[in-house]
Amino acid sequence: MSDTIFTKIINKEIPAEILYEDELALAFNDINPQAPIHFLVIPKKTIITINDIESEDKALVGHLYWVAAQIARDKGFADDGYRAVMNCNENGGQTVYHIHLHVLAGKPLGWPPYQDRLKTV
Ligand code: AMP
Repeated sequence: MSDTIFTKIINKEIPAEILYEDELALAFNDINPQAPIHFLVIPKKTIITINDIESEDKALVGHLYWVAAQIARDKGFADDGYRAVMNCNENGGQTVYHIHLHVLAGKPLGWPPYQDRLKTV
């Protein structure tokens, strides 16, 4: 099982601005926010990519979305809306190999997300 920086955050070996924690999941602010609100929801169990989600992990992955929605409600942006996405591998833009739900909010978010780059291809 490979450790990442997120393992260190789970183990409190490095600091993070933690928003929520339970026995299965942890949510903390992204260190390089891409929106006025940008936090990550991660499982405490190491799952390397979306491709590595096993049948036994299905409820855990659903739990990450539930945590995102609880925080959205608590912080008051649930009704305005937000984006909750996971990147997978290189073309998906994944840089930390421990699955994480990005939750972005606080402004209207463009779609598709890489429209400008597509226009130049
Ligand atoms: P991804 O590129 O989808 O793998 O997302 C990884 C995310 O982790 C990026 O948005 C980073 O800004 C974020 N990140 C990396 N290190 C930390 C850290 N120590 N604390 C909080 N967020 C981090």
